[in-house]
Parts: sequence; C-alpha cells; structure tokens
Amino acid sequence: MSTIFSKIIKREIPADIVFESENVLAFRDINPQAPTHILIIPKIEIPSVREINGKEHAALLGEMFDAANKIAKKEGIAEDGFRLVFNCGPNAMQEVYHLHMHLIGGRKMKWPPG
Ligand code: 5GP
Repeated sequence: MSTIFSKIIKREIPADIVFESENVLAFRDINPQAPTHILIIPKIEIPSVREINGKEHAALLGEMFDAANKIAKKEGIAEDGFRLVFNCGPNAMQEVYHLHMHLIGGRKMKWPPG
C-alpha cells in the first residue's frame, strides 16, 4: 500500500529534498529530532525491514548507506558522528510503512534509546 512517501517521490506533496539518485531519495524529516534529521528512502515500495531480501535488495541498501555517508559529509556531521535508525514494526514505533533510514546528527545522543 502506498504511503505519504510515495507522494513525496512523485512530487505530489512537497519535501525538502537533499539528495536524489535513480533509486534513492532523501529529504528532511518534518518533525526533526536533532539539528540534522534526514530520511533516506528507496524509490520502490518496501514496507519495512521485514520485507528486505538480502539477495534482491543488497545493491539498493548499499546505495542508501552511500547516500547517508554523502549527506552526512555535506551536512558537516560525518566527523563527530551520527545515528542511522530503521524503525521496524509497532514495538519500534514505525509510523510510515515505506522503508526509511533515519540519519540523525548534529548533537550528542544518548544510549539506550527510549
Ligand atoms: P518512523 O516512525 O516510521 O520510523 O518515521 C517516520 C518519520 O517520517 C517520522 O520521523 C515523521 O516525522 C516523518 N514524516 C511523516 N510524515 C512526513 C511528511 O509528510 N514529510 C516529511 N518530510 N516527514 C514525514
């Protein structure tokens, strides 16, 4: 089922897009949890981590991590470090069922997460 992120991919609703390639899109989270909070998504619809198939999606996931590194450098947070998060399913409070990697940085974080 399509989500709000499909609408962002199709430019049906606006987003602050920071990176785009053939297979991947990245845009700022509407409700940022840190000075830098960017969502990196595949353009194809994969609902969550549970639907990832290593063989089928390896290259795509690689592209998402490459995008994360590129964006982190551009945002100036690569050296101090950042957090990459995939929320998967209800216990992790996943809200949007279109696979997305949160790139969060620009402040010191705590561990364990809430
Ligand atoms: P999840 O909880 O599913 O891992 O994260 C979904 C994220 O998407 C949340 O951090 C939320 O703020 C963000 N989000 C939800 N709707 C929109 C939207 O329409 N535009 C943008 N830019 N971010 C959104």
